[in-house]
Amino acid sequence: MLPCGAQSSREMQELNWREFAELVPARIQTVLLPTGTIEAHGVIHNGADNTAPVDLARAMAPRLNALVAPLIPYGVTGSLDGYPGTFQISESAYRPFVADVLRGLARNGFRNIIVVNGHGGPQTAILNDLAEQASREHRVRVLVINWWSACSEATFRVFGEDGGHAGWNETAFTQAVRPQLVRRDLFSKDLEMPRPAAGTWAAFPFPAPVILYQAGQGSVRFDEAKAKEYFLAVVDCMTNLAEGTIQRWDRMNLYPAAASPASPR
Ligand SMILES: [Zn+2]
Repeated sequence: MLPCGAQSSREMQELNWREFAELVPARIQTVLLPTGTIEAHGVIHNGADNTAPVDLARAMAPRLNALVAPLIPYGVTGSLDGYPGTFQISESAYRPFVADVLRGLARNGFRNIIVVNGHGGPQTAILNDLAEQASREHRVRVLVINWWSACSEATFRVFGEDGGHAGWNETAFTQAVRPQLVRRDLFSKDLEMPRPAAGTWAAFPFPAPVILYQAGQGSVRFDEAKAKEYFLAVVDCMTNLAEGTIQRWDRMNLYPAAASPASPR
């Protein structure tokens, strides 16, 4: 038997099946699923969209009494697909794979699936679509959070300006947790471009790996104190959003837990 209120790990893949059976769903109903991709990120590592959601999920899990599912590391990369070391999974392969992962989490007894997404572009709409489908088909509650946009308020608060793809905010996020992966020596302003206004132009590959959301804002800087402050602000913002959504689902009495000895309320 496990000691009450504790388990050997919050990493789902590190649990023994007997441990898992004791925990889910009797004591843990929430799972965090990190999703990302591998694409160029200016002066940080190509896997920044994978490490960010994993680091976030690990920080959020104790506060949400959640487990962390293994990351889905390959994703639907968009306009940066031409950069060295980048991977692109076709939408037709990605959709059924992620749908099956969501189904597996539901089938294993989780009631709340929080997708902590690290990569935007075409992947966001696909994940939203899959979440809706999984919720309907498996009567499970699914929240998809794009951390950089859901918590853009934290970006403005900490840096006093908007961020960008691989901009100051995303670089700072890596600097806070994995400083050895920030390559200051590779920085040059030439890596940065503001994203074009909607409907104006599109280039494939995009001719800069740092894509600023607004011209003149979010340019990469290396401020360690701000990096740490930003990481904590994003963890708080993400945790509050997930917790608030779960509480609202409960108050609306959506998909109440089945009253059976196997899955008590
Ligand atoms: Zn990124």
